[in-house]
Amino acid sequence: MEHLENDQQYSGLTVNSGVSQPPSVNPYLRHRRKPMPTAAELVEGILKGDVTQLSRAVTLVESTSPEHQSIAQEVIEKCLPYSGNSRRIGITGVPGAGKSTSIDVFGLHVLKRGGKLAVLAIDPSSERTKGSILGDKTRMEKLSVHPDAFIRPSPSAGSLGGVARKTRETIVLCEAAGYNNIFVETVGVGQSETAVHSMVDFFLLIQLAGTGDELQGIKRGIMEMADGIVINKADGDNINRAQLAQAQFRSALHLFPPTTSGWMPEVLCYSGYYELGIAEVWDMIDRYFDFVNGNGYFEHKRRQQARYWMYESINEQLKNNFYRNPDVEALLADRERLVLENRQSSFIAARDVLDFYFSRIRK
Ligand code: GDP
Repeated sequence: MEHLENDQQYSGLTVNSGVSQPPSVNPYLRHRRKPMPTAAELVEGILKGDVTQLSRAVTLVESTSPEHQSIAQEVIEKCLPYSGNSRRIGITGVPGAGKSTSIDVFGLHVLKRGGKLAVLAIDPSSERTKGSILGDKTRMEKLSVHPDAFIRPSPSAGSLGGVARKTRETIVLCEAAGYNNIFVETVGVGQSETAVHSMVDFFLLIQLAGTGDELQGIKRGIMEMADGIVINKADGDNINRAQLAQAQFRSALHLFPPTTSGWMPEVLCYSGYYELGIAEVWDMIDRYFDFVNGNGYFEHKRRQQARYWMYESINEQLKNNFYRNPDVEALLADRERLVLENRQSSFIAARDVLDFYFSRIRK
């Protein structure tokens, strides 16, 4: 069709009809996508320390698809005999405490001794906040480009139990891939500390001084879990306040019952940003490992944790099996309505739904 602009009166301006736009999607891409790896391929890659295969396996662990899960479980089982040979360290602290800054420098410190480091996270809120706050690799600038560091954000979907199980399984895969240092990071604001505590050997609590609520602000339970409390940002004008907080924490710890390991948790000051006191923090952690290896607590705790995860895994799968059953779902919706309308008691409604479920299983 002739363009209006091509009219004589607009001479000097011509518009060509143009060429057709090539598609922006490569039509051959589909054929080039790699097929789903087999469990054997993944295991072989992982045991060789192949990061691509490790990442693919972790993605399957995190997937909710039954097909992916079954491959993942096979991979985990085959990797189990090669796992366990690592130091697992949990790191927690409120947002802004300096976890990422510190993990960056702690990580480099650890890697100077050789070996490899995996940084994992448990952040059950990540789904709610759309995008994990712990997931951003760029927060750990130096580690994220280090060839011996593997950084994986928190699995995002599901309940805390589900997220924690996936991280626990990822630890197995990382260890089989030769990662002999595992950091598990979590935000110190909720239940996730308990989950992290149940999968690590040493639990490090990062605190800040000078907020005026040093002791009040921390849940007692979290402090009791800590094997080490470190007060970050002990630099510049903040040094005195950090030392004051250190003294307060030390005396507060004395009020707690002795730990089952026999280890007396230590309190240290450091600065992640200015890299002050890093070696001291790590010396403390070394002392802890010497101590618990010496008295047998290390092995004991690992076995207790294995048992805990067996039950956690059973609980989670039972719950999923129950709540994802379409008939149960329909009956639940019905009973929920009756309970809300005050026409049936909660206990009778619960019993009815469970009876229905169990009678289904028995068949
Ligand atoms: P996260 O939310 O716990 O991961 O905390 P970040 O590592 O992101 O740190 C929060 C803020 O505190 C950032 O602006 C850091 O630069 C700052 N920060 C971290 N460590 C230190 C430190 O040792 N000293 C000082 N002065 N600031 C720090």
